[in-house]
Amino acid sequence: MKKHSIILLLLCIQIANAFPTITEINPAIDSLMNRVNIDSLESKIRYLQNLGPRPAQTSHMNPNNTEGHKQYLNNIAAKNWLYQQYENIGNLDVYFHHFLPESQCDTIWNIVFNDTTFFTLDTARNVVAVQIGTEFPDEYVIVCSHFDTYSNGSPLSTPGADDNASGTSGVLEIARVLSPHSFKRSIIYLNNNGEELGISGAALFAYYCKENNINISGVFNLDMIGYNPIDMPLKIFYNDRPPINKDLAKYFDEVSALYLPDIPALPNQDEDTNSGKQGMGDCFMFIKYDYPAMYMGDVLGYGLDGWFSAPPCYHQTCDTIGIGKEDAGVNSMELVKAYTQTALVAIAELAELDDNSIKEEKPISCVITPNPTSGTATFTLYFDDVGHLTITLNNVLGQEIMELNNSFVDTKTFIKTFSLSHLPIGVYYLKIIHNGNAIIEKIVIET
Ligand SMILES: [Zn+2]
Repeated sequence: MKKHSIILLLLCIQIANAFPTITEINPAIDSLMNRVNIDSLESKIRYLQNLGPRPAQTSHMNPNNTEGHKQYLNNIAAKNWLYQQYENIGNLDVYFHHFLPESQCDTIWNIVFNDTTFFTLDTARNVVAVQIGTEFPDEYVIVCSHFDTYSNGSPLSTPGADDNASGTSGVLEIARVLSPHSFKRSIIYLNNNGEELGISGAALFAYYCKENNINISGVFNLDMIGYNPIDMPLKIFYNDRPPINKDLAKYFDEVSALYLPDIPALPNQDEDTNSGKQGMGDCFMFIKYDYPAMYMGDVLGYGLDGWFSAPPCYHQTCDTIGIGKEDAGVNSMELVKAYTQTALVAIAELAELDDNSIKEEKPISCVITPNPTSGTATFTLYFDDVGHLTITLNNVLGQEIMELNNSFVDTKTFIKTFSLSHLPIGVYYLKIIHNGNAIIEKIVIET
């Protein structure tokens, strides 16, 4: 009897860890993949980059360190902006994961390495957005990135475009494209804080999952997805070294080759390091707790012929967007798009798109940042065609307060910043009409 139950148990574990074999392109998933939009990705990287350095450490504890305090506020601003982005996307349960109790904030916290790490209640938070599955809601596919930054030297000066506004933009874009559709398994879009401080946020999220017996099918971690050596063909790198990742890596390799045959996906080139064997960055604790968790990023190009020893702007001031430049952080938006697309198809196949759920893309999609706003707000609109665009601002009674746009737009993307600071605080509605299609968006003006 005992023997039998052990065999049964082993069988169950086997089934839980099995990855599907995908041999044919699913046209619905292919069409979702093609909705990944370079302008949308780039605008998110630029937003985070323009906030400036976003370290999670609490330099505010030294009142004389004004630059440190400003950067600490940048970290909080990035966290709040991410939360708002998921709220705007809709169809997601959005919350902050408080990864340290109050009693452990503002004290030395030692998590994975022997780091001396400080957090406050405002920075000891990850941003989590959950899309509930229709058939297996308690099985989760996770796509994650960290949004904090780290700079070599002092002052801390890296805007962190490649490391890791790029991966964070990818996670947001996958949420934007997938969230209108139904999947059998749940998907967690996760942006971690404190990766650069002992990978604290992701480690404690993984710990939380383990403690609560959360069933995770696979974790895809996007970290540094925008640097490609000049004049070299694009390549995608992923980490297949940790033994727990063997099946996940095989699955990813097959899916990637099927959907993006022109861009090779290569396993980790860095044979020798511990990071190669144990997983890197935010994957570390997921792997430690026996969850398959794959790191995807340009930094894994180490040592490959003609590649680099590390991207030249890694943790440097020059980690900014500079398309086509050798000395830049993100130098290829095509690469950011390719990583985002491969992660998207791997997630969509693993979470299993509900057969009939694929809907026509909304003719207009709109992102407003920041929202709530106290001054200016940037509207980013995506259309399925060129056409005439009117935008009006209306009060809660539906009365038109002002016209923000009334012109023909000859591109499929419209990005413009409006000053709204002269308006009384309160809730307003935007009526956006493009080629006869109309949507209503809420905007809040606060002090
Ligand atoms: Zn990173």
